[in-house]
Amino acid sequence: NTNVLEVSELSVSFLVDEEYIKCVRNVSFTVKAGECLAIVGESGCGKSVTAKSVMGLIRQQNGKISKNSRILFENEDMLNNDKKQWTQVRGKDIAMVFQDSMSALNPTMRIGKQIEEILLNHKICKKSDAKKKTIQLLKKVGIPYAEKRSRQYPHEFSGGMRQRIMIAMAIACNPRLLIADEPTTALDVVVQAQILEMLKRLQKEENMSIILVTHDFGVVARMADRVAVMYSGSIVEQGSLKDIFYRTKHPYTRALLKSQPRLNDRKGKELYTLEGTPPILKNIPEGCPFCFRCENAMNICVKKMPKATDFNEEHKASCWLFHNENVRSEGEING
Ligand code: SF4
Ligand code: MG
Repeated sequence: NTNVLEVSELSVSFLVDEEYIKCVRNVSFTVKAGECLAIVGESGCGKSVTAKSVMGLIRQQNGKISKNSRILFENEDMLNNDKKQWTQVRGKDIAMVFQDSMSALNPTMRIGKQIEEILLNHKICKKSDAKKKTIQLLKKVGIPYAEKRSRQYPHEFSGGMRQRIMIAMAIACNPRLLIADEPTTALDVVVQAQILEMLKRLQKEENMSIILVTHDFGVVARMADRVAVMYSGSIVEQGSLKDIFYRTKHPYTRALLKSQPRLNDRKGKELYTLEGTPPILKNIPEGCPFCFRCENAMNICVKKMPKATDFNEEHKASCWLFHNENVRSEGEING
């Protein structure tokens, strides 16, 4: 299976109080054709910044991508793209769906017209076919009475319906990669489940790859083929859905999983709480970023960043627990 996207050694900094703060550190991952990679982590872990890097949206937010970073989309180096090249790729080959549909849609324009505009801007069809194609798209994402509803304005739709419209806009140009950043976070669970199911169906039908950014392991379980877990700007563990859920290696992944409800949990069962907060990005320790919250932390964890250990071809985690005794023979702190 070919890689649609290859990200390697991605580091991103933003200017905060006249100082560049690294929000993403040496992040590497791939996305294969037709698969869904979930990037999961708490807010501020760098998952959205990672997604925005792939969309070419860092420079316009005054961010800086480090020189040795690589982003290859279908073997093309995206970091060499100029503004014009980005406008051709973005929204067409790589499309994005955000959490907040209300601010992404134009409130003063009928939704059908907004979709037609995308089709025409990217020269997907002739002007005379745009209306028909728009209605097909609305049907595809499950908007009932598509023809009538294409003439309505965003505020006339529910949050869930608006999110479907956003998805219709995103898939209008048959993108090979869809980036969905918390696409269902604002919706209630029933609507959320319907939309995720629809996304899964589109992924299969169109053989589209998806990067799904979320803080919610329930969403990961429904959608992901593979998972990357981020903490404080680093991917601490990645692997197949089964690797992450059933062969969990990293203490942070373990804590995250324990702190989230599972579908088969008994009602009223107490959830584990992960104590503490992620380090402020300005003061990330030299060693493992999770060292101040980790139950297993050892002396070496504070001093040195652990290298990744491979458990199988796609499953890896960066933690001193998986390095041999000699390397970490400095005794434990929190025991
Ligand atoms: Fe915990 Fe150390 Fe592993 Fe970090 S490297 S997760 S602090 S055991
Ligand atoms: Mg975010």
